[in-house]
Amino acid sequence: MADIRYVSFYTVFLRQSVNSPWTMDHGPWTIDFSPFTFHLPMLPESHEYFMQQALKEAQLAFDSDEVPVGAVVVMNNKIIARGHNQVELLNDSTAHAEILALTSAYSSMGSKYLPDATLYVTLEPCLMCCGALYWGKIGRIVYGASDEKNGFHKHLIANHSPFHPKTEVINGVLRDECAWLMKSFFQQKR
Ligand SMILES: [Zn+2]
Repeated sequence: MADIRYVSFYTVFLRQSVNSPWTMDHGPWTIDFSPFTFHLPMLPESHEYFMQQALKEAQLAFDSDEVPVGAVVVMNNKIIARGHNQVELLNDSTAHAEILALTSAYSSMGSKYLPDATLYVTLEPCLMCCGALYWGKIGRIVYGASDEKNGFHKHLIANHSPFHPKTEVINGVLRDECAWLMKSFFQQKR
């Protein structure tokens, strides 16, 4: 049921944001001929496809009343690890999606470094997770929504990246969908 709910919100969101019946702002092709909306599948192996998988993890967190952040680790176009925020469940303030996904990835690869892997996460990483990603020498980080309150950008000094020099950082993939999930979580808390 969780997925159905997510898809329906997603559809409503896109329908509100379209000016023409064709839109490809941040993800799948969506064709809106009201009252019908058609979704064409996203191509696998795209940033949007893997971010959608991270969003599924975020939805699991949402359904467990955790702040909805999800992550997947990808290597050779395959997901090798998944994680979602479990701070409440584990009573552990460090149990962020990125940390859990990284730990799982190290375990599955039998390696403490992941220079050939990409971590997709729905929200801008915090400084703690930046540290973990730095030590893991992750090849690439792709995140969705910005986090004005706790994201790493807030702590940047003279634009000095907190990541490993070889780590590539991409942001804004499915930004609106990732942000929407966070917003709706905190709205229902009020
Ligand atoms: Zn974090």
